[in-house]
Amino acid sequence: MRVVFSNRAYASVLAETTEKIKTETGGLFLGTVQDDTWYIIEAIDPGPKSIFEVAYFEYDQKYTQHLINKIANLYDKKLTLIGLWHRHPGSFDQFSSTDDGTNAKYASMREEGAISALVNIDPTFRITMYQVDRPCRYKKIEYDVGDNLIPDGLLKFKTPERFYSMMDNILYPSVTSRTTDGYHKSVSLASFMKFILPQMKDEECTDVETNNLLGDESTQEHLIDEIVDDLTFMADTLGIETAISLDDRYLTVYQEAIDKTTKLYFMLSVVKHAVVLSYDDKCFTYRRGLFTEAFGKAKAERERKDGSESRVKPRKQAGVIDSVIKIIRFNRNEE
Ligand SMILES: [Zn+2]
Repeated sequence: MRVVFSNRAYASVLAETTEKIKTETGGLFLGTVQDDTWYIIEAIDPGPKSIFEVAYFEYDQKYTQHLINKIANLYDKKLTLIGLWHRHPGSFDQFSSTDDGTNAKYASMREEGAISALVNIDPTFRITMYQVDRPCRYKKIEYDVGDNLIPDGLLKFKTPERFYSMMDNILYPSVTSRTTDGYHKSVSLASFMKFILPQMKDEECTDVETNNLLGDESTQEHLIDEIVDDLTFMADTLGIETAISLDDRYLTVYQEAIDKTTKLYFMLSVVKHAVVLSYDDKCFTYRRGLFTEAFGKAKAERERKDGSESRVKPRKQAGVIDSVIKIIRFNRNEE
């Protein structure tokens, strides 16, 4: 296992360290994991409202989330948050207990865990790279720097044509749904839910204890963390436009249509120790990636049926998968 920085990502870490040379700083890594290698394609700064102290650091979440979306949207392949780095004073190149908490949170985001790097200047710049297993076990790993060490596809931006077609999809949705059998409907949130619900039988639960919900600032962050992968999949791969609103206890994912507004309510149940989804008078135990997984199963099932009954509808499949619209709006309810 090793880590490869793109030239740009490595320069970004150096630039951020240089700029804040007299204080502490850090940042986040965007990239992907392939064949046991962590590719850091972009390193983003922690934001103007970040706080870095000797035993404590905090990223400017609004800023970093904004930047992650912006940068990820440029690239052809999907980039995700794979890790983080921060500087430590002197030669201290191990994690503090506060760091453990942060690292564990990042490691919980994906199967492979996360990477977490420490920068020391003692007296010159050096990086110690760690892989963080779930829940929070560290392994020192090697890293290299160089675009030439990165598979071509990972550094590519979306082509102008891809952007044109995304613009078209957003501005003239009817043009992309040329067929009249209504496949454009499948980018509606309601039909997406209808499509995947049969695959979520096991997650169904009896009721939501609305008096046993957690509600504070970190709840909102936690809920966003949990569902962001599914929302990205829905937006990037399926072209489902949704908006999000947040209040103390609920995160609502919704889509307004002419006839009705489809709403999914996510909340954190104290009793179940889990994220609970309420939709259409039903309640489900939600986990990260549940929708993506259910969609995969539903699609496989439909392909099996289509394959055995007729092969008349390949266009329909392609249409859903090809449509790429990414609009996730974050609206914070101020009440
Ligand atoms: Zn630290």
